[in-house]
Order: sequence, then C-alpha cells, then structure tokens
Amino acid sequence: MVNLEGRSVVLIVEDEPSYQDALNIGLTVEGFIVVAAGTIAQAHELMMSTKPDLVLLDVMLPDGSGIDFCREIYDTSRIPVIMVSARSSEVDVVLGLEIGAADYVTKPYRLRELVARMRAVLRRPAANAEEEVITFGDLRIDFVRRTVSRQGREIELSRKEFDLLALFASRLGQVVTRETCLDTLWWGLELSDTRTLDTHVKRLRQKVEEDPANPRHLLTIRGVGFRLDA
Ligand code: CA
Repeated sequence: MVNLEGRSVVLIVEDEPSYQDALNIGLTVEGFIVVAAGTIAQAHELMMSTKPDLVLLDVMLPDGSGIDFCREIYDTSRIPVIMVSARSSEVDVVLGLEIGAADYVTKPYRLRELVARMRAVLRRPAANAEEEVITFGDLRIDFVRRTVSRQGREIELSRKEFDLLALFASRLGQVVTRETCLDTLWWGLELSDTRTLDTHVKRLRQKVEEDPANPRHLLTIRGVGFRLDA
C-alpha cells in the first residue's frame, strides 16, 4: 500500500543478518519503507499487517522454501515478488520465473541494480493498473483478478503472459518495442535472449487469438515490436 508520502512499502524476507541490515539501510535511503522478516512465519504476519507493494524473497529460509512461499503469495494476492537467491543455477532462475516471480536476482547483487529492478517491477501496469477491466473485441482483461476471457470463457495465462498482455493493453493501438518488453518484464536479459520474448508472445497469441496464424489483436511489427489492436 503506497502510503501518504507516496513511498512504496517493501517486505524483505531474508534470514542473513548482513543482507537484512544492508537492505534495511540501503532501501530506506532510496526512499522505500522497509519491513523485514527473517522467516516465512514472520513474513506471513507482516504481509497481513503492512500490505507491502513488493516482496523481496530469499529462496533459502530457515522455516521453508521461498519458492513455495512465492506460490502462496501469488495464490492470495497481486503483490509482485522478486526472488533473491545465493544460488545462480539456471534451474533456480527458470523455476523462480516460471512460478511467476516478477524478477530474480542472485547474491551478491549490487544495491543500485536491485533498486532499478524494484522500480521497474513497481512501474508495471499490472502492479498498479488504474483501470480494472479493459474490454475489446471479444477479449476481456480484468487487472484486479488478473484474468482474461474470450467470449466469456476464461483463458489460463501464466503470470508472465498476463504481465505481457497487460503491458500491451496499457498501450492499446500503440507499438510496444521489444526493448520495452524486455526492460519491463525481463530485466537484465541480454538481447541475445530475446527468443524468450518471442516464445511468450507466441504462446499468448495461441491463447488469446481465435486464429493464431492470422492474429487480429496481437500483431508483430517486424523489427520493432508488437501492437495490441482492438
Ligand atoms: Ca537464506
């Protein structure tokens, strides 16, 4: 919940005191309101009492797995989660992003980089959509419930697919460049990894288009990006 001064509340779930202290100080200096938990149990309580705008979640915690807790957060709220891990194996990153983590950082990270990622996540349309529902053609996007339906039938989207659709929908009729997509949704991915973006767009198109081979809504603007048309 953005408080009266317009500052975002971030919940840090981190059991290493050195990291917790550094984040507490560093993020406060950056203008965030910081609440910190060392265990999942404490995080549970703070989620209820503080209604954070963003959660920074360590993967290895004394009373459980951050991955499982991330799933739980997404089942019960719209609060974005950035996973933080000491392990940098690709499996972890993929798992983290697949369960819908908004982003993923690996220790040791630079505070400046982390803050930039946090701000990018908080800027995402799905995190602070002003309009609750957008309807166009036979599609209906509900930003509060994070659901999409076509002709009244709900379409199942992954968190990433929804975020991507929400980004396009926030600029209906305008081209969204590939760079914007990557900056907003895949922080830190190199341009050589843009196949990930294409894969997601393709999957999204298969889900929201009646005839994915001849899309009517989600169009590719070759060499530039994408455009969602009503
Ligand atoms: Ca840990």
